[in-house]
Amino acid sequence: MDFYSQNREDLTSEWGRLGVSQAHVRTIMAGAYKKLSSCPWAEATPPRLLKNWLDEHAQVLKVERSKIQVSMYDSSVKFLFKLADGYEVESVLMPESSRITICLSSQVGCAQGCIFCFTGKMGLKRNLRASEILIQVIEANRWIEENANWLKALNLPSFQRITNVVFMGMGEPLDNLNEVTKAISIMKDPWGLNLAARKITISTAGHLDGLKAALESMPNISYALSMHATSESERSKLMPINRRFPLGDILDFLREKSKSYEKDFLIQYTVIHNVNDSLEDAAMLAQLLADINVKVNLIPLNPIEPSRLNSPDPKRLEAFRDFLYEKGIRVMIRYSKGQDIMAACGQLVTNRLPS
Ligand code: SF4
Repeated sequence: MDFYSQNREDLTSEWGRLGVSQAHVRTIMAGAYKKLSSCPWAEATPPRLLKNWLDEHAQVLKVERSKIQVSMYDSSVKFLFKLADGYEVESVLMPESSRITICLSSQVGCAQGCIFCFTGKMGLKRNLRASEILIQVIEANRWIEENANWLKALNLPSFQRITNVVFMGMGEPLDNLNEVTKAISIMKDPWGLNLAARKITISTAGHLDGLKAALESMPNISYALSMHATSESERSKLMPINRRFPLGDILDFLREKSKSYEKDFLIQYTVIHNVNDSLEDAAMLAQLLADINVKVNLIPLNPIEPSRLNSPDPKRLEAFRDFLYEKGIRVMIRYSKGQDIMAACGQLVTNRLPS
Protein backbone atom coordinates (compact mmCIF):
# COMPACT_ATOMS: atom_id res chain seq x y z
CA MET A 1 0.00 0.00 0.00
CA ASP A 2 1.31 3.41 -1.05
CA PHE A 3 0.46 5.21 2.22
CA TYR A 4 0.29 8.84 1.02
CA SER A 5 -2.02 7.80 -1.85
CA GLN A 6 -4.70 6.65 0.64
CA ASN A 7 -7.25 9.15 1.89
CA ARG A 8 -9.23 8.82 5.12
CA GLU A 9 -11.95 6.71 3.46
CA ASP A 10 -9.37 4.32 1.95
CA LEU A 11 -7.57 3.87 5.27
CA THR A 12 -10.77 3.46 7.25
CA SER A 13 -12.12 0.80 4.93
CA GLU A 14 -8.80 -1.05 4.49
CA TRP A 15 -7.93 -1.06 8.17
CA GLY A 16 -11.51 -1.47 9.37
CA ARG A 17 -11.21 -5.09 8.22
CA LEU A 18 -8.36 -5.44 10.73
CA GLY A 19 -10.52 -4.06 13.52
CA VAL A 20 -8.79 -0.68 13.58
CA SER A 21 -10.75 2.22 15.10
CA GLN A 22 -11.27 5.67 13.57
CA ALA A 23 -9.20 7.07 16.42
CA HIS A 24 -6.15 5.10 15.25
CA VAL A 25 -6.64 6.24 11.66
CA ARG A 26 -6.76 9.82 12.91
CA THR A 27 -3.60 9.44 15.00
CA ILE A 28 -1.67 7.91 12.13
CA MET A 29 -2.82 10.61 9.69
CA ALA A 30 -1.75 13.24 12.24
CA GLY A 31 1.68 11.57 12.35
CA ALA A 32 1.93 11.85 8.57
CA TYR A 33 0.49 15.29 7.83
CA LYS A 34 0.81 17.32 11.04
CA LYS A 35 3.94 15.92 12.69
CA LEU A 36 5.45 15.23 9.25
CA SER A 37 6.91 11.99 10.57
CA SER A 38 8.77 9.77 8.13
CA CYS A 39 7.08 6.80 9.88
CA PRO A 40 3.53 8.05 10.55
CA TRP A 41 2.64 5.22 12.94
CA ALA A 42 5.87 5.42 14.96
CA GLU A 43 4.11 7.16 17.88
CA ALA A 44 0.63 5.79 17.31
CA THR A 45 0.77 2.50 19.24
CA PRO A 46 -1.48 0.77 16.73
CA PRO A 47 -3.00 -2.62 17.62
CA ARG A 48 -0.60 -5.50 17.03
CA LEU A 49 -2.59 -6.77 14.03
CA LEU A 50 -2.33 -3.39 12.30
CA LYS A 51 1.34 -2.97 13.28
CA ASN A 52 2.19 -6.29 11.62
CA TRP A 53 0.12 -5.39 8.58
CA LEU A 54 1.80 -1.98 8.25
CA ASP A 55 5.27 -3.42 8.53
CA GLU A 56 4.47 -5.96 5.86
CA HIS A 57 2.31 -4.01 3.40
CA ALA A 58 2.72 -0.24 3.78
CA GLN A 59 5.28 1.91 1.97
CA VAL A 60 5.84 5.49 3.01
CA LEU A 61 7.14 7.36 -0.02
CA LYS A 62 10.48 9.09 0.31
CA VAL A 63 11.93 11.54 -2.20
CA GLU A 64 15.33 13.12 -2.36
CA ARG A 65 15.60 16.91 -2.36
CA SER A 66 18.16 16.98 -5.17
CA LYS A 67 18.44 20.76 -5.26
CA ILE A 68 17.04 23.69 -3.32
CA GLN A 69 17.40 27.30 -4.52
CA VAL A 70 16.28 30.35 -2.58
CA SER A 71 15.58 33.54 -4.52
CA MET A 72 17.64 36.56 -3.46
CA TYR A 73 14.88 38.89 -4.61
CA ASP A 74 11.67 37.54 -3.10
CA SER A 75 12.69 34.56 -0.89
CA SER A 76 10.74 32.08 -3.01
CA VAL A 77 12.22 28.58 -2.88
CA LYS A 78 12.52 26.12 -5.75
CA PHE A 79 12.80 22.42 -4.95
CA LEU A 80 13.98 19.72 -7.31
CA PHE A 81 12.69 16.37 -6.04
CA LYS A 82 14.09 13.06 -7.23
CA LEU A 83 11.44 10.35 -7.39
CA ALA A 84 12.00 6.64 -6.76
CA ASP A 85 12.35 5.83 -10.48
CA GLY A 86 14.89 8.61 -11.03
CA TYR A 87 12.60 11.17 -12.66
CA GLU A 88 12.62 14.63 -11.16
CA VAL A 89 9.91 17.24 -10.60
CA GLU A 90 10.00 20.81 -9.38
CA SER A 91 7.85 22.73 -6.89
CA VAL A 92 8.07 26.36 -5.80
CA LEU A 93 7.28 27.94 -2.43
CA MET A 94 6.05 31.51 -2.73
CA PRO A 95 5.82 33.46 0.54
CA GLU A 96 3.62 36.54 0.93
CA SER A 97 2.74 38.69 3.92
CA SER A 98 0.27 36.30 5.53
CA ARG A 99 0.41 33.13 3.48
CA ILE A 100 2.73 30.62 1.92
CA THR A 101 1.71 29.17 -1.42
CA ILE A 102 3.22 26.11 -3.04
CA CYS A 103 3.12 25.64 -6.78
CA LEU A 104 2.89 21.89 -7.38
CA SER A 105 3.73 19.61 -10.29
CA SER A 106 1.15 17.03 -11.32
CA GLN A 107 3.14 15.28 -14.06
CA VAL A 108 6.73 14.65 -15.05
CA GLY A 109 6.85 16.93 -18.10
CA CYS A 110 3.69 17.80 -20.01
CA ALA A 111 1.99 16.65 -23.20
CA GLN A 112 0.44 20.01 -24.07
CA GLY A 113 3.45 21.68 -25.69
CA CYS A 114 2.55 25.35 -25.13
CA ILE A 115 5.23 27.17 -27.09
CA PHE A 116 6.19 29.65 -24.34
CA CYS A 117 6.75 26.94 -21.70
CA PHE A 118 9.92 25.05 -20.85
CA THR A 119 8.00 22.14 -19.34
CA GLY A 120 6.07 21.71 -22.57
CA LYS A 121 9.36 21.23 -24.42
CA MET A 122 10.10 18.14 -22.27
CA GLY A 123 7.05 16.24 -23.51
CA LEU A 124 5.17 14.00 -21.11
CA LYS A 125 7.21 11.39 -19.24
CA ARG A 126 4.53 10.13 -16.88
CA ASN A 127 1.73 11.10 -14.49
CA LEU A 128 2.48 11.56 -10.79
CA ARG A 129 0.71 9.41 -8.22
CA ALA A 130 -1.29 11.13 -5.46
CA SER A 131 1.53 10.31 -3.04
CA GLU A 132 4.08 11.99 -5.34
CA ILE A 133 1.92 15.12 -5.41
CA LEU A 134 1.43 15.19 -1.63
CA ILE A 135 5.07 14.52 -0.83
CA GLN A 136 5.95 17.86 -2.47
CA VAL A 137 3.84 19.62 0.18
CA ILE A 138 5.11 17.43 3.02
CA GLU A 139 8.77 17.91 2.06
CA ALA A 140 8.31 21.66 1.64
CA ASN A 141 6.64 21.86 5.08
CA ARG A 142 9.59 19.88 6.52
CA TRP A 143 11.99 22.36 4.90
CA ILE A 144 10.06 25.29 6.41
CA GLU A 145 10.24 23.64 9.83
CA GLU A 146 14.01 23.17 9.45
CA ASN A 147 14.57 26.77 8.30
CA ALA A 148 13.24 28.99 11.06
CA ASN A 149 15.39 31.87 9.78
CA TRP A 150 13.54 31.90 6.48
CA LEU A 151 10.22 32.45 8.31
CA LYS A 152 11.81 35.00 10.62
CA ALA A 153 13.21 37.05 7.75
CA LEU A 154 9.73 37.16 6.27
CA ASN A 155 8.12 38.17 9.59
CA LEU A 156 6.03 35.02 9.54
CA PRO A 157 5.29 33.15 12.78
CA SER A 158 7.45 30.12 13.60
CA PHE A 159 4.47 27.75 13.34
CA GLN A 160 3.53 28.96 9.84
CA ARG A 161 3.11 26.22 7.25
CA ILE A 162 1.89 26.10 3.66
CA THR A 163 -1.55 27.73 3.44
CA ASN A 164 -2.32 27.69 -0.30
CA VAL A 165 -1.77 25.22 -3.10
CA VAL A 166 -1.77 25.95 -6.81
CA PHE A 167 -1.43 23.29 -9.49
CA MET A 168 0.60 25.49 -11.80
CA GLY A 169 3.90 23.60 -11.83
CA MET A 170 4.92 20.91 -14.29
CA GLY A 171 2.06 19.24 -16.13
CA GLU A 172 -1.60 19.73 -17.00
CA PRO A 173 -3.42 18.65 -13.80
CA LEU A 174 -6.62 17.78 -15.64
CA ASP A 175 -4.67 15.21 -17.69
CA ASN A 176 -4.09 13.42 -14.36
CA LEU A 177 -7.40 14.11 -12.70
CA ASN A 178 -7.83 10.91 -10.65
CA GLU A 179 -4.53 11.28 -8.80
CA VAL A 180 -4.95 15.06 -8.42
CA THR A 181 -8.45 14.52 -6.98
CA LYS A 182 -7.17 11.95 -4.50
CA ALA A 183 -4.34 14.25 -3.40
CA ILE A 184 -6.78 17.16 -2.97
CA SER A 185 -9.08 15.03 -0.81
CA ILE A 186 -6.17 14.58 1.63
CA MET A 187 -5.19 18.26 1.43
CA LYS A 188 -8.73 19.34 2.38
CA ASP A 189 -9.27 16.75 5.09
CA PRO A 190 -9.02 18.15 8.65
CA TRP A 191 -7.19 14.90 9.51
CA GLY A 192 -4.86 15.49 6.55
CA LEU A 193 -3.31 18.83 5.59
CA ASN A 194 -6.46 20.70 6.63
CA LEU A 195 -6.32 23.34 3.89
CA ALA A 196 -9.42 25.37 3.06
CA ALA A 197 -10.88 24.19 -0.26
CA ARG A 198 -10.93 27.72 -1.71
CA LYS A 199 -7.16 27.92 -1.13
CA ILE A 200 -6.54 25.06 -3.53
CA THR A 201 -6.43 26.08 -7.20
CA ILE A 202 -6.33 23.87 -10.26
CA SER A 203 -4.95 25.73 -13.24
CA THR A 204 -5.69 24.34 -16.70
CA ALA A 205 -4.49 25.13 -20.19
CA GLY A 206 -8.09 24.52 -21.25
CA HIS A 207 -8.88 20.81 -20.84
CA LEU A 208 -12.65 21.23 -21.09
CA ASP A 209 -13.65 17.61 -20.39
CA GLY A 210 -11.40 17.55 -17.31
CA LEU A 211 -12.71 20.93 -16.13
CA LYS A 212 -16.30 19.73 -16.35
CA ALA A 213 -15.48 16.57 -14.38
CA ALA A 214 -13.42 18.44 -11.78
CA LEU A 215 -16.09 21.08 -11.17
CA GLU A 216 -18.66 18.32 -10.77
CA SER A 217 -16.64 16.41 -8.16
CA MET A 218 -14.83 19.36 -6.50
CA PRO A 219 -17.12 22.41 -6.70
CA ASN A 220 -15.54 24.12 -3.69
CA ILE A 221 -11.96 24.50 -4.86
CA SER A 222 -10.75 27.33 -7.13
CA TYR A 223 -10.06 27.15 -10.85
CA ALA A 224 -7.82 29.09 -13.18
CA LEU A 225 -7.80 29.12 -16.98
CA SER A 226 -4.61 29.94 -18.85
CA MET A 227 -6.12 31.92 -21.69
CA HIS A 228 -3.24 33.89 -23.24
CA ALA A 229 -5.03 34.85 -26.49
CA THR A 230 -8.38 36.14 -27.64
CA SER A 231 -8.70 34.51 -31.07
CA GLU A 232 -8.91 30.80 -31.80
CA SER A 233 -6.15 30.99 -34.41
CA GLU A 234 -3.68 32.87 -32.18
CA ARG A 235 -4.44 30.65 -29.19
CA SER A 236 -3.95 27.50 -31.27
CA LYS A 237 -0.51 28.78 -32.28
CA LEU A 238 0.48 29.36 -28.64
CA MET A 239 -1.35 26.41 -27.08
CA PRO A 240 -1.97 23.34 -29.24
CA ILE A 241 -4.67 22.11 -26.79
CA ASN A 242 -6.90 24.84 -28.28
CA ARG A 243 -7.37 22.70 -31.40
CA ARG A 244 -8.94 19.98 -29.23
CA PHE A 245 -10.88 22.26 -26.88
CA PRO A 246 -11.54 25.62 -28.61
CA LEU A 247 -11.55 28.74 -26.45
CA GLY A 248 -15.13 29.56 -27.47
CA ASP A 249 -16.40 26.26 -26.02
CA ILE A 250 -14.50 26.80 -22.76
CA LEU A 251 -15.82 30.33 -22.34
CA ASP A 252 -19.37 29.16 -23.12
CA PHE A 253 -19.00 26.60 -20.34
CA LEU A 254 -17.61 29.18 -17.87
CA ARG A 255 -20.43 31.59 -18.81
CA GLU A 256 -23.01 28.92 -18.07
CA LYS A 257 -21.27 27.89 -14.84
CA SER A 258 -21.03 31.50 -13.67
CA LYS A 259 -24.78 31.32 -12.98
CA SER A 260 -24.28 28.74 -10.22
CA TYR A 261 -20.56 28.71 -9.29
CA GLU A 262 -20.09 30.92 -6.26
CA LYS A 263 -16.49 31.95 -6.84
CA ASP A 264 -14.75 33.83 -9.61
CA PHE A 265 -12.77 31.97 -12.20
CA LEU A 266 -9.21 33.17 -12.41
CA ILE A 267 -8.13 34.03 -15.95
CA GLN A 268 -4.39 34.00 -16.52
CA TYR A 269 -3.22 35.98 -19.48
CA THR A 270 0.48 35.87 -20.27
CA VAL A 271 1.25 39.13 -22.03
CA ILE A 272 3.67 38.75 -24.93
CA HIS A 273 5.32 41.63 -26.76
CA ASN A 274 3.60 42.36 -30.09
CA VAL A 275 1.62 39.11 -29.95
CA ASN A 276 -1.32 39.72 -27.60
CA ASP A 277 -0.59 43.06 -25.91
CA SER A 278 -2.47 45.60 -28.06
CA LEU A 279 -5.50 47.59 -26.94
CA GLU A 280 -7.48 45.71 -29.61
CA ASP A 281 -6.56 42.49 -27.74
CA ALA A 282 -7.64 44.10 -24.46
CA ALA A 283 -10.97 45.14 -26.01
CA MET A 284 -11.57 41.63 -27.32
CA LEU A 285 -10.63 40.14 -23.95
CA ALA A 286 -13.09 42.43 -22.16
CA GLN A 287 -15.81 41.48 -24.62
CA LEU A 288 -15.20 37.74 -24.27
CA LEU A 289 -15.23 37.87 -20.46
CA ALA A 290 -18.17 40.27 -20.12
CA ASP A 291 -20.74 37.76 -18.77
CA ILE A 292 -18.37 35.56 -16.78
CA ASN A 293 -17.41 36.00 -13.12
CA VAL A 294 -13.68 36.44 -13.43
CA LYS A 295 -10.57 37.95 -11.98
CA VAL A 296 -7.80 38.50 -14.50
CA ASN A 297 -4.09 38.14 -13.81
CA LEU A 298 -1.85 39.68 -16.44
CA ILE A 299 1.52 37.92 -16.33
CA PRO A 300 4.38 39.51 -18.29
CA LEU A 301 6.05 36.71 -20.26
CA ASN A 302 9.19 35.18 -18.77
CA PRO A 303 11.11 34.56 -22.00
CA ILE A 304 12.64 31.12 -22.50
CA GLU A 305 15.31 30.08 -24.96
CA PRO A 306 15.21 29.45 -27.88
CA SER A 307 11.77 31.00 -28.04
CA ARG A 308 11.46 34.23 -30.00
CA LEU A 309 8.70 35.53 -27.75
CA ASN A 310 9.52 38.49 -25.53
CA SER A 311 8.29 40.34 -22.44
CA PRO A 312 5.87 43.20 -23.06
CA ASP A 313 6.80 46.85 -22.84
CA PRO A 314 5.83 48.00 -19.30
CA LYS A 315 3.86 51.01 -20.58
CA ARG A 316 1.85 48.89 -23.00
CA LEU A 317 1.21 46.40 -20.21
CA GLU A 318 -0.13 49.12 -17.92
CA ALA A 319 -2.32 50.52 -20.69
CA PHE A 320 -3.68 47.02 -21.28
CA ARG A 321 -4.50 46.68 -17.58
CA ASP A 322 -6.09 50.13 -17.37
CA PHE A 323 -8.29 49.39 -20.36
CA LEU A 324 -9.66 46.23 -18.73
CA TYR A 325 -10.12 48.03 -15.43
CA GLU A 326 -12.17 50.75 -17.11
CA LYS A 327 -14.37 48.05 -18.59
CA GLY A 328 -15.20 46.91 -15.05
CA ILE A 329 -12.97 43.85 -14.97
CA ARG A 330 -11.01 43.08 -11.83
CA VAL A 331 -7.47 42.87 -13.09
CA MET A 332 -3.95 42.76 -11.67
CA ILE A 333 -0.47 42.60 -13.11
CA ARG A 334 1.27 39.65 -11.44
CA TYR A 335 5.01 39.50 -11.70
CA SER A 336 6.23 35.91 -11.36
CA LYS A 337 8.26 35.07 -8.31
CA GLY A 338 11.64 33.40 -8.33
CA GLN A 339 12.86 34.75 -11.67
CA ASP A 340 16.51 34.58 -10.58
CA ILE A 341 16.19 30.84 -9.85
CA MET A 342 14.19 29.91 -12.96
CA ALA A 343 11.10 29.30 -10.84
CA ALA A 344 8.79 31.66 -12.69
CA CYS A 345 5.73 30.63 -14.67
CA GLY A 346 6.68 28.46 -17.65
CA GLN A 347 10.29 28.04 -16.55
CA LEU A 348 10.07 24.74 -14.66
CA VAL A 349 11.94 21.97 -16.39
CA THR A 350 14.09 18.99 -15.53
CA ASN A 351 16.42 17.43 -18.02
CA ARG A 352 17.49 14.38 -16.16
CA LEU A 353 16.07 11.02 -17.11
CA PRO A 354 16.24 7.97 -14.84
CA SER A 355 19.75 6.55 -14.72
S1 SF4 B 1 1.95 25.91 -19.80
FE1 SF4 B 1 1.13 24.21 -18.53
S2 SF4 B 1 -0.11 23.00 -19.98
FE2 SF4 B 1 1.22 24.31 -21.23
S3 SF4 B 1 3.03 23.03 -21.66
FE3 SF4 B 1 3.48 24.26 -19.82
S4 SF4 B 1 2.95 22.91 -18.12
FE4 SF4 B 1 1.93 22.08 -19.95
